[in-house]
Amino acid sequence: MRQSSPLLAFHNTDPLVPVAVGNNNEALFRKLLLGVSVIAGLTHLCFLLLFYKSGVSQLAIINVGSILCYALAFSLLWRHHMLSAWMLMLLEVVGHAVLAVYFLGWESSFHFYIMLAPPVMMVGSLGNWCKAPLVLGLAALYVGLDFFLRLATPIVALEPSVLNGLHYFNLIAVLVLLIFLAGMYYRLVVQSEKQLREMAATDPLTRLRNRRSVLDTSTCEAAKLRRDGRPLSFVLCDVDHFKVINDTHGHEAGDDVLKAVANILRSGVREVDHAARWGGEEFLLLLPETASPGAERAVNRLREAIAKLRVPSKEGPLKVTMTFGISSLRLNEPIDQAIARADKALYQGKRAGRNRVELAPEDVAPQA
Ligand code: GH3
Ligand code: MG
Ligand code: MG
Repeated sequence: MRQSSPLLAFHNTDPLVPVAVGNNNEALFRKLLLGVSVIAGLTHLCFLLLFYKSGVSQLAIINVGSILCYALAFSLLWRHHMLSAWMLMLLEVVGHAVLAVYFLGWESSFHFYIMLAPPVMMVGSLGNWCKAPLVLGLAALYVGLDFFLRLATPIVALEPSVLNGLHYFNLIAVLVLLIFLAGMYYRLVVQSEKQLREMAATDPLTRLRNRRSVLDTSTCEAAKLRRDGRPLSFVLCDVDHFKVINDTHGHEAGDDVLKAVANILRSGVREVDHAARWGGEEFLLLLPETASPGAERAVNRLREAIAKLRVPSKEGPLKVTMTFGISSLRLNEPIDQAIARADKALYQGKRAGRNRVELAPEDVAPQA
């Protein structure tokens, strides 16, 4: 039997939230690497042409290898082999940068590319045990290269104009990649935040808003409507004999009933109204600009629609009814008090036989 205690405890924790956000981050990181592999592949194609034209055939050949590496990384990412793609790209960036600086000298600025790897690594999904040594290793490599190669004579002496061109090309390419990475990272943060906010406000079973979210909305709506003296109605509704459905047909069938009821509540109210799962098999409707008589008419339509509902189950279609309690927010009345009055009206409805709509006594219009 339903308890007469006014407000149910919040029990709508969603264990799936971190998993879902984690998956989202993984998907965005994959997109980021796909983007990087395309940009890097195209950049190396430019190098290939440049070195081929400048007659530096060893480096032109190295660039053929790089383009193949990025094509392979793209195909690995496409097939969701994140770790191998990521490692392949890291090896290519570092190996190519070291070789290019060794052959062409520090002035060619290929060492800049090594600086791109740590930020990508930090936002990636590698474990911290793996990130820390890799990032420190890359930092040490960069300092080592600087120490040994900055003043060394290059193996291949390029024309000063070509070297200058290479320097600016690399500088601009690295800046473009950095801006791209920062943009993707910003998108990742904004998207995760939005998704978390949505999840924190949504009931995972019915996809309706949850208790916390509808309470926040109630506070805003009440403040808005009180200013102009416009009405606001609360409807607390509860599935009748829901325990019997669970006990007879199983918890899964019970969940299906809750989802079907939620769909009717969601689609049966106006766009300005709010339907929320209050807890268990109880729901709360928030009807702005609606006084009790209007709310009663609207809610009776919902009650009839739910009584006509047939929820498919293994044992055949399940029938369900619902009882509703309505209260309208009174002047200077706290929201929880108005909801408690709707809860009392609901309890009255249960006692009077269920499948009913009951108004809080304070909201019943005096008979003429
Ligand atoms: P009444 O008509 O007086 O409201 O009776 P009732 O059986 O609907 O009420 P009661 O409070 O006795 O039982 C509610 C049941 O709802 C008990 C609880 O296990 C079940 N319930 C609560 N949340 C969920 C849920 O998310 N899924 C399912 N399947 N059952 C739930
Ligand atoms: Mg209940
Ligand atoms: Mg019930």
